[in-house]
Amino acid sequence: MRSVLVVGGGAAGCELAWGLARHGVATTLLTTSLDTLYALPADSWPSRPPAATLWSEVAPEARDAAGLQRAGPLRRAAKRELERLADLRVVQSNAIALARGDAGEVVGVRTWEGPPVRAGLTVLAVGSFLGARLTLGPAVEIAGRLSEMAYDDLRDDLRDAGLRLRRHTVTLGGEGVAPPYAVEHDVVDEDELEPLRVAGRVVVGAGRARRWSGLWFVGACTGDVGIEAAAAAGRDLAAHLATATA
Ligand SMILES: Cc1cc2nc3c(=O)[nH]c(=O)nc-3n(C[C@H](O)[C@H](O)[C@H](O)COP(=O)(O)OP(=O)(O)OC[C@H]3O[C@@H](n4cnc5c(N)ncnc54)[C@H](O)[C@@H]3O)c2cc1C
Repeated sequence: MRSVLVVGGGAAGCELAWGLARHGVATTLLTTSLDTLYALPADSWPSRPPAATLWSEVAPEARDAAGLQRAGPLRRAAKRELERLADLRVVQSNAIALARGDAGEVVGVRTWEGPPVRAGLTVLAVGSFLGARLTLGPAVEIAGRLSEMAYDDLRDDLRDAGLRLRRHTVTLGGEGVAPPYAVEHDVVDEDELEPLRVAGRVVVGAGRARRWSGLWFVGACTGDVGIEAAAAAGRDLAAHLATATA
């Protein structure tokens, strides 16, 4: 059975890692900070977890009296459930570049500690963190979300290797968001991806790299993908890869 490396512990990466490990696939989830696993877009979020997901399993303990999902309890519960899986290793690190084999195939990533983390398949679930710039009033930060540093190394490596990327901007404003802010980040050009299909249906937010073998992308790094779609894409890709890696 092939091993899978998932880079990025947002909704997409957590669902993917959880689903793979529950299928018995040796999985590593590598993410910049274990404190930010399964981040919701806001502290309180309408409770709409997709079916058959890690999120739907822990949703009851993250729900408040008003029926909203609370970010803190969800992060804690998701971390606990991920860390209890025997086939899942959760690692706090930062991927700075793809690691490639002799034929150009992707065999893992290089990290800022130095040694590469290798796997049979690598999935980038890096969300809004590729070359991210957060603008809040006159301040511009290198961040993929408020208070979450984004390092440029992986984006630079992908771009230097020839992967076509395009800029995408998320603007937040209006009621409940004061002051308004925006995050601009790169996403993988859709021409670079062969979409995942399940029973003939295209899964939004999941695709295999056309350029190199051994590499997939899932979640918001593929385009305008909301949190529920990111979770569902991680779930569906897990089911697909668990079969493919068997
Ligand atoms: C400012 C902003 C507001 C948004 N608001 C909404 C909203 O209201 N509703 C909605 O549905 N969607 C919203 N989105 C979209 C949101 O990004 C997605 O819904 C959801 O977070 C995507 O999940 P994801 O798992 O794909 O990525 P993310 O949640 O972005 O997770 C990516 C993870 O990868 C990690 N990572 C990144 N690079 C590396 C690396 N090199 N090495 C290791 N780890 C790495 C990050 O630390 C992070 O934990 C918003 C996005 C932004 C930027």
